[in-house]
Amino acid sequence: MRIFDPHIHMTSRTTDDYERMHDAGVRAVVEPAFWLGQPRTNVGSFLDYFDALLGWEPYRAAQHGIRHLCALALNPKEANDPRCEGVLDELPRYLLKESVVAVGEVGYDSMTPAEDRAFEAQLAMAAEHDLPVLVHTPHRDKAEGTRRTLDVVKGLPPERVLIDHLNEVTVGMVADSGCWMGFSIYPDTKMDPGRMVAILQEYGTERMLVNSAADWGRSDPLRTRAVGDAMRAAGFTEDDVDRVLWRNPSAFYGVAPEAQATGADYAGNTIKRGG
Ligand SMILES: [Zn+2]
Repeated sequence: MRIFDPHIHMTSRTTDDYERMHDAGVRAVVEPAFWLGQPRTNVGSFLDYFDALLGWEPYRAAQHGIRHLCALALNPKEANDPRCEGVLDELPRYLLKESVVAVGEVGYDSMTPAEDRAFEAQLAMAAEHDLPVLVHTPHRDKAEGTRRTLDVVKGLPPERVLIDHLNEVTVGMVADSGCWMGFSIYPDTKMDPGRMVAILQEYGTERMLVNSAADWGRSDPLRTRAVGDAMRAAGFTEDDVDRVLWRNPSAFYGVAPEAQATGADYAGNTIKRGG
């Protein structure tokens, strides 16, 4: 089983995770820029983080045979801090980098006017740079947040938009919109593999993306594999599993990660281990 996790925060994970992911079949990941838990207080703090997603983390992943790509953005939560607004001026030059395959995570956290401004500005940047967009939906007020999100992204072609963190309540409206549907599978809350399989049985496998969204909270980078196993057990074919766990993320991000899945020759590998 080959797996491309379209949303995972490897910055917060260990080398053990990389090893277990490779053993489970993970060969490619997209790491979207997000809130690190500790709020940042200046633009430079974001730029160091973006540089890590472009340099250090791909190097670390390549040592475990995993291709690391990223999505960059000012996340919705920190869009509320005026000290961080300047990130929006710096983003365009980062969006030109080869391993930046999308703008994200953007969207709503508390649905404030500041979040609206950052969301709109970054959708415009995505259009300008011809990049797809990864849109986070709020965990509170999910139905209302998703409805409002779909309204805001209407200006972009739906096939360039991924609406993430969906569940049984919100999947229907996103299916109707033509946008890609993202599901974050967690160990004990929100979506689990069984519920994911039921959604795939009802809505099919097209435009469906499954991710672990593993980060610094309680989460599991092997939840993608668990969904693949649950799909097999429920009678889905190997081709169905490959579509959901590999071909769909490759198509959405417009990349062919297999070409470099084992490329240990990352350009930044002059960095020595143990430093
Ligand atoms: Zn995330």
